[in-house]
Amino acid sequence: MGTKPRRGYDAADRRADSLDALELAPVTGWNAHYVDGEWRPRENRDTLDVMNPATREPVGAVPAGTDADVEEAYAAADAARRAWAERTPDERASVVADARELVDAYREEFVHLFAVECGGARLKADIELDLTGGTMSVAEDLADSFGTDERESVVEGKRNLLTREPAGVVGVISPWNFPLYLSMRAVAPALALGNAVVLKPSTHTAVVGGLAVARIFEEAGLPDGVLNVVTGTGSEIGEAVASHSTPSVVSFTGSTEVGREVGAAAAEQLSTPALELGGNNAHIVTDDADLDRAVDGGVFGSFTHQGQECISINRHLVHESVYDEYVERLAARAERLPMGDPREEGVVVGPVQNASQYETIVDLLERSVERGAEIEAGGDHYEWFVEPTVLSNVANDMPIAAEEHFGPVAPVVPFETDEQAIELANDTEYGLSGSVHCEDRERAMDIARRLDTGMVHINDQPLNDEPHVPFGGVGASGIGRYNGEAIVEAFTETKWISVQDEPREYPY
Ligand code: NAD
Repeated sequence: MGTKPRRGYDAADRRADSLDALELAPVTGWNAHYVDGEWRPRENRDTLDVMNPATREPVGAVPAGTDADVEEAYAAADAARRAWAERTPDERASVVADARELVDAYREEFVHLFAVECGGARLKADIELDLTGGTMSVAEDLADSFGTDERESVVEGKRNLLTREPAGVVGVISPWNFPLYLSMRAVAPALALGNAVVLKPSTHTAVVGGLAVARIFEEAGLPDGVLNVVTGTGSEIGEAVASHSTPSVVSFTGSTEVGREVGAAAAEQLSTPALELGGNNAHIVTDDADLDRAVDGGVFGSFTHQGQECISINRHLVHESVYDEYVERLAARAERLPMGDPREEGVVVGPVQNASQYETIVDLLERSVERGAEIEAGGDHYEWFVEPTVLSNVANDMPIAAEEHFGPVAPVVPFETDEQAIELANDTEYGLSGSVHCEDRERAMDIARRLDTGMVHINDQPLNDEPHVPFGGVGASGIGRYNGEAIVEAFTETKWISVQDEPREYPY
C-alpha cells in the first residue's frame, strides 16, 4: 500500500455524512427492515456498518438480519400476493410509475448515496439512475402482459386458450456494483406483473440497493407486504432467501461462485432460478479497426465505475499490427483520468467498493506482473483506490486476463488472426458480453457470431444495457435473460385453459 496523494482527492474533504440525515430515510433511520409495510427497527439484532469506500469510515448502520427475519418477510409476501395479483394492470403500473417519479424526485439523494455507499462518481450515478428509470418505465408497459392467446386444437370442438399468471413470490438477491438498478431490474417487473417480492440487497450497499427501494415503493403506495426488504450478509441469510419454499422464482445477480449455490438451492425447492453472473468480456480490435473509436470504447468499457461491471472489458485483444499504437494511446488516456473521492466534481475513477475486492484486484495485478505483464499506465494502489492501469505483454492465461478482475485494469493481449482472437476470447468459462472493432461489417458479424457470449457489440464496447432488449449470458455467466419480454417469461407462468364447446367422443 502506498501513501501517494490521490489525484484530485482532497483529504480535508473527508466527511462521515450520516445516511440517516437524508430526506429519503425512514423515520426509524436505516437500521430497520421493511416487512409487511412496517419499518421494524433493530431491537436485539446485531448491526452492519455501511462504509464509505473513499474514506473507509462508517456512514450508517443496517440490521444484520437472521433466518427469522427472512421467514417473516416471505410470510408477508405470501399473504399479500393474491390481492396484489388481482389489482388491474393499470393499478399496478401506476404504483410503479409513481415510484419511478419518486426516484427522479430524490435524484440528488441517490447521487449522494451512490457516492458514499458505492464509491460511484457522478457519471456512474447518472448512468445508473437513467437505467433505473428505463427499467421501471418498461415494467409499467409490461404490467398488461396477461392477454389471452388462442391455439388450434387437435380435438374437435375444443378451443385452446393461453393465459398468463404472476409466478407468485419472487426472491431477489442483488449485488453492490449497480445496486439500485440491479435490484430494480428484478423488483419493478416482478411487481408490475403482479408478484410479491422479498429483496435481499448486498451487504455492501444495503441502503441504496434495498432499503431505499422499500422507501420509494412505500411512498408510492404499494400495499403492505407486497415488497419486503431484509438486510444481512450472504453467509448468514443468503441461503435462507434462496432455499425457502415460498418463492416461485429466485432472481440472483452476483458472482458465479455464489450463483451456483443459489441456483442449486432454488432448484432443490423447484423454484425457477434466474441467474445473472460473472463475465470475462473481450474487446477485440482487428487490424482494420478505426483506432480512435476502438480506444474511446476501450477507455469507457474498462474504467467506468472502476471496471466494476459484469459487462466491463476484462481483456483487450488487439491485432499485433496495431498493438503498440493501441497500448500507447490507451495508456495515455488512462493516465489522464481524474481519480478521487466520487463526491468531487469531475472525478471519473473512484475507489474500489470494498476491501475484499481491492485485495483481489491487487493480487491479480501483482501475480500477472510477476509473470511478465508490463505496466504502461497506473499500477499504483492506495487503500481502496487502484489507479487506472494499462498492462502490455499480457498472455491470456495470466491471472488478470484469465479471471474476472472487476477493477480499473486493462490487460492488452496481442493476436495474429481472427481465428486466434475468437479462440482467445472464448477461452473462458464465462460468456456474458464482448465487443469487436472492425471496419469490415461482414467480418465483424462473423466474429460476433462465433463468440460464445449472450451479447456482442460491434464498433462499441461491452458496457451496454437497454431495458427493453434481452440481457444475459451463456455458460458460467448465467441462466435466462432479463429486460422486456424476456422478464415476462421469467416472472409469470403460462396457463393452458381449454374449452370443450362441443360434446367430445371418448374411446370408451
Ligand atoms: P456476490 O456473489 O458476492 O454477492 C451477490 C449477492 O449474493 C449479495 O447480495 C450477497 O450478499 C449474496 N450472497 C453472498 N453469499 C451468498 C450465499 N451463500 N447465498 C445467497 N446469497 C449470497 O457478488 P458481488 O460481489 O455482490 O457482485 C459482483 C459479481 O456480480 C461479479 O461477479 C459480477 O460479474 C456479477 N454481476 C453480474 C451481473 C449480470 O447482470 N450478469 C451484474 C452485476 C454483477
